[in-house]
Amino acid sequence: MLPSEFQRRLHKKLDSLTDEHRLRPRRTVIAQDSTTCTVDGQICVNFASNDYLGLAFHPETTAAFAEAAGTQAGSTASALVAGRTDWHCRLETELRCFEEAEGVLLFPSGFAANLGTLTSLVTANDAVFCDRDNHASIIDGCRAADGRMFVYHRDSLDHLAASLERRRNEYDQLFIVTDTVFSMDGVLAPLPRLCDIAESTGAVLIVDEAHGTGIFGSRGQGVCELMGVHNRVPVRIGTLSKAVGAMGGFVAGDSNLIDVLWNTARTQFFSTALPPAVCAAAVASLRVMRRDQDRLRRLHDRCQLARQIVADRGLVSIDGSQGPIVPIVTGADDLAVEASQKLMNAGFFVPAIRPPTVPTGTARLRMSINCEHSESQIEQAVSEICKAVN
Ligand code: PMP
Repeated sequence: MLPSEFQRRLHKKLDSLTDEHRLRPRRTVIAQDSTTCTVDGQICVNFASNDYLGLAFHPETTAAFAEAAGTQAGSTASALVAGRTDWHCRLETELRCFEEAEGVLLFPSGFAANLGTLTSLVTANDAVFCDRDNHASIIDGCRAADGRMFVYHRDSLDHLAASLERRRNEYDQLFIVTDTVFSMDGVLAPLPRLCDIAESTGAVLIVDEAHGTGIFGSRGQGVCELMGVHNRVPVRIGTLSKAVGAMGGFVAGDSNLIDVLWNTARTQFFSTALPPAVCAAAVASLRVMRRDQDRLRRLHDRCQLARQIVADRGLVSIDGSQGPIVPIVTGADDLAVEASQKLMNAGFFVPAIRPPTVPTGTARLRMSINCEHSESQIEQAVSEICKAVN
């Protein structure tokens, strides 16, 4: 039994979430394949998944998973203690090659990679400059780190440069941390300018390629590759849970960086290592990604189509948005939630994103495009969005 005072506190919290229209349902989503699912029993075309290349459902990925899972389920301990199997080593090698990096360290999730890297590297008497729109795991990492946190916005880089210049003698080490693709907008970070600022002020640039890995650049390395700054970014964080279709996070960079993280990143060594079968699935998926470039071409064609139809229909998106995340801004929270429900009734799963995930007044529907979506699925979904928001 919970103490009654605490029970009252929980009720109050739930009431205020209800009043603010921020109480989220806990849905059961059962996938049929990479584009179709049932949501609480209702069959829908899925525009909510981050499996942009359809690799979570690829037969080679699922076969690799099943084969490795046939002998072992959990990895039994943290990688540092006893949980680093041959599959973890193979995945690190595969990622080192994919990332063209000296070293790679695996984490249990992308969230853990961001949190663990920031709390390990940003120590007392350091300062970290964090983009306002960064993912929660980066914001939490900056807040939890011992150094001082400053918030900037990517539209005010002159201000950021001046601020770093002014403070460089006040702190032992400066850091800049940014998502490469802002996950609620699909907007790309201005990486070349951030590299210039970091290099001229001695700051270390840390990027999170969560939505960039596999999607941008001719080798699929991400936005760093697309913008030609891959070798200028010393700390690259990625996740295996989106385009790679598996689970887990990783950091790629210099071997000393990886050795320091291996010994000090608490979310890595105080947490059980990824299951070996997940590593096997990620290895298979990365190999498919390298071999089958057609998926990426198809994905970008579909994304272009979706953006074109959204614009033709006069829907409001976000300037500069690129790639598979296609936001349709409704403004009011309840309009986004009602539209999402209407879409669900019409057979399209397009989630509503509300504050605090996005700034107040910018609630939106967020379409995630997958290379397996057909043109007609995209056309029909946008038609239904038009009806639902107008
Ligand atoms: N960074 C960004 C930008 C993300 O969108 C997410 C997932 N929503 C993460 C990190 C966390 O990744 P994971 O789901 O692998 O924990």
